[in-house]
Amino acid sequence: MSRFWSQVVNDLTPYVPGEQPKIANLIKLNTNENPYPPSPKVLAAVQAELDGDAARLRLYPDPNSDLLKAAVARLHGVSAQQVFVGNGSDEVLAHIFMALLKHEAPILFPDITYSFYPVYCGLYGVDYQTVPLAEDFSLDPAGYVGKANGGIIFPNPNAPTGRLLAVDAIEQIAKANPDSVVVVDEAYVDFGGESAIKLVDRYDNLLVVHTLSKSRSLAGLRVGFAVGHPALIEGLERVKNSFNSYPLDRLAIVGAVAAMEDTAHFEQCCQAVIATRDTLSADLAKLDFEVLPSAANFIFARHPQRDAAELATALRERSIIVRHFKLPRIDQFLRITVGTDAECRALVDGLREIL
Ligand code: PMP
Repeated sequence: MSRFWSQVVNDLTPYVPGEQPKIANLIKLNTNENPYPPSPKVLAAVQAELDGDAARLRLYPDPNSDLLKAAVARLHGVSAQQVFVGNGSDEVLAHIFMALLKHEAPILFPDITYSFYPVYCGLYGVDYQTVPLAEDFSLDPAGYVGKANGGIIFPNPNAPTGRLLAVDAIEQIAKANPDSVVVVDEAYVDFGGESAIKLVDRYDNLLVVHTLSKSRSLAGLRVGFAVGHPALIEGLERVKNSFNSYPLDRLAIVGAVAAMEDTAHFEQCCQAVIATRDTLSADLAKLDFEVLPSAANFIFARHPQRDAAELATALRERSIIVRHFKLPRIDQFLRITVGTDAECRALVDGLREIL
């Protein structure tokens, strides 16, 4: 191998996603997917795209995904010029790191956060500095005020803690950093948070990222988007045109539009997840777990007496998979995706046996 290539191999620490096991009959509570199927209208739209004109898949998709941008714009009360779309929010985030966060000063993000951010920094040569979360794992906006930076990014609710930051606090951060892009990754916001999209008309430095993977049950279709000032979107479009000119395929575009138009299905699924989350939090507390307040479709919890890695292994022996991160400060926590009521009951029963 060439010296350059072996250096790439040695220097890059790739992101390690949650396991996607091939075995059936597992209770899979490790990667924050939605336990409910997507809207039936998604399946109908995809089917129509396939049936309606068999030749259509022969043709390239719309390079601008205009139908999808229009649907996002309608849903969130913005213009299509304020919308950027990508193959999942991970790809949207990749474009953001490439386009907007390369500055002289390091970018800021919390010390406990979505583990893709440091990976992207390594990949795109972006310096970063982490800002510690408070003792109770909440994000203190003061940590993002008065610090020279090349951009700020955090999920809200945060991952993997599930803790929510109020929109007022996000406004404070955007206001205090007028020369930086402030990126709010709202992958989980539909499970109990308030979106900062309502601020984008007032703060031209604010970019809000969403995904259809979680609240719209479409992790397998790969659709995400960002909403912000047209100048930020234009920056992302320029990167996109140099990187991947056709971001979304034909099936993803029609499926995502149908999902966003089915408000009733969306609300019903989110409410079911929220209700199950609250029951699960209470059940875990009864088993002596310390449970962080969650506004997401997962729960972050630790047991004062039992080792988290051992608990995860013991659950796995009972065909239940949850996520355990071997990271400082959180290595005694389990991150448990909220499944169906039956799945969560099986989890609690399993833990009761183990403890
Ligand atoms: N942001 C956060 C905080 C996430 O947890 C995830 C899911 N792993 C993503 C973005 C990416 O989601 P997707 O690429 O499926 O849209």
